[in-house]
Amino acid sequence: MSTVAGAWLDAVSLAARQANVEREFALADFPRLADRLAVPDGRVAVRLALELIDGTPVGTLVVRARLPLVCQRCLRPMVHALESESRLALVADPDAAVPADAEAIATDPARVDLQALVEDELLLGLPVAARHGPGDDCVTGTDVTEATRRPFAGLGKLLKN
Ligand SMILES: [Zn+2]
Repeated sequence: MSTVAGAWLDAVSLAARQANVEREFALADFPRLADRLAVPDGRVAVRLALELIDGTPVGTLVVRARLPLVCQRCLRPMVHALESESRLALVADPDAAVPADAEAIATDPARVDLQALVEDELLLGLPVAARHGPGDDCVTGTDVTEATRRPFAGLGKLLKN
């Protein structure tokens, strides 16, 4: 296992020696993700295990992050634990034949932008509508109904005056 520094990865040579790349990013490093977060605060742990299959660099990308989101039910902060694992075939030609269990990613395999790959995984892993889990402290449906009703109760009283 080795750790590689630098922004770009040469997936061809890394795959030839079956390298494992481990990185940590800050959530603030991902501009496309930032406006989906309650605060761009936190870390993303990334592991990319590379191998050559029929001459094609194929990576198993594991992304782990705790994303601060806004609950769409109660509009208060919550944390979404994201863990994704995907098999990516890094190919210059998007129509190239790739292993059946891998998704073809069109890129320069000798200059792979790991940060962009990770940002795609994070965006794909975002829930469509973030919600507190059953055990979390979320306003229940009944509470929301009561809160919505209250202004109208007050309005009736106001109209009588
Ligand atoms: Zn909630």
